[in-house]
Amino acid sequence: MNTTPRTFVAVPADSHFPIRNLPYGVFRPIMGGPPRVGVAIGESVLDLAVLAEAGLLDGRYLSGVGVFRRASLNALMALGRPAWREARELVTRLLSADEPRLRDNQALRDAALVPQASVEMLLPAEVGDYTDFYSSREHATNVGVMFRGPDAALQPNWLHLPVGYHGRASSLVPGGVDVRRPCGQTRPDDGAPPLFGPSRQMDFELEIGAFIGPGNTLGEPIGIDRAEEHIFGLVLVNDWSARDIQKWEYVPLGPFLGKSFATSVSPWVVTLDALEPFRCAAPVQDPPPLPYLRTSGPQGIDLCLEVWLQGGRMAAPERITATNARHLYWSLAQQVAHHTVNGCNLRTGDLLASGTISGPTRESRGSLLELAWRGAEPFELPGGERRTFLEDGDRVTMTGWCQGDGFRVGFGELSARVLPAHQAVP
Ligand code: CA
Repeated sequence: MNTTPRTFVAVPADSHFPIRNLPYGVFRPIMGGPPRVGVAIGESVLDLAVLAEAGLLDGRYLSGVGVFRRASLNALMALGRPAWREARELVTRLLSADEPRLRDNQALRDAALVPQASVEMLLPAEVGDYTDFYSSREHATNVGVMFRGPDAALQPNWLHLPVGYHGRASSLVPGGVDVRRPCGQTRPDDGAPPLFGPSRQMDFELEIGAFIGPGNTLGEPIGIDRAEEHIFGLVLVNDWSARDIQKWEYVPLGPFLGKSFATSVSPWVVTLDALEPFRCAAPVQDPPPLPYLRTSGPQGIDLCLEVWLQGGRMAAPERITATNARHLYWSLAQQVAHHTVNGCNLRTGDLLASGTISGPTRESRGSLLELAWRGAEPFELPGGERRTFLEDGDRVTMTGWCQGDGFRVGFGELSARVLPAHQAVP
């Protein structure tokens, strides 16, 4: 039976980081020092490198492996779920209110528990490959209606496989890094030649992403029943998109420069073990998928997601989207099984993003493309501002959390500002 663990660390009631969460990240003290792995607890970061070197993280899987004084989570991710569970148990015990080893050692506490405000969060993993799926039926339907009409909104393949494309890993950035409006080739007038210049239709996409733990050998697919053993944890993802560049370039090979200028990733990786109490039924799949994509047990995650927008002249951010990851039609396990069914090898640190997560209502649409319906329905913001797409100076902040009984298991914030384009070079 699960009992509620209590910690000696102060955790505000609305914190995303209670002792039940314990998400991993990579941080560097603002005052200097090498990057290392930490866990968020309340408004602090617990420095796992310090604890390991004090001999407090020894166990069957973790002793002597040296996975915490690192600039990425990859070494920890590669160890697999038994090691992750061991780390979670050890850290939970060290933070418990009735455990004195850290609680009563002031020098160790000073070294190991540092304010989040005093650190810089880095990209959590070294990402070899980034794949972006298209797993929200509502999003795919909205986009399909806009571009092809309601009778052909979903392409014939969509209900049979999780559609995806290969994204660009090199331009992944952690939250807090501002993103520059891209320049590129567009054709605003279908009857005229294409133009070059700053994108006029820059957008965000609200997504979640899964980091791969242990990979698979080339040629050996991951069966769907084992798929979640290969997922270390989840992050929020903002798949910035230049709709005008995308629209002109994507035929016939799919997204390219309209996506690859930047993709933002939230710094804290929430493990599947922390999310386990929030599993829920996913949408019913009709027609039933082929056997290699058939799952059992709850495939969804009851994860509230929001997007807040603050324009340069707005006094405060305004919530523009509230949705939930439970709407995703294709599950994490199905994405992993499909990605590898041809023998493609996933590697530790690979990122698999869900695709834009939209819900059934107007307020739950996960991109400006949908919220302003391709520019046809601009929406009003406080201070008299209107939006169809993002403007320079706009700050986009995404957040997400699972709501427990009196606590939250959350992802914190993923926030970045839109910088003006560099002077276009023809
Ligand atoms: Ca996307």
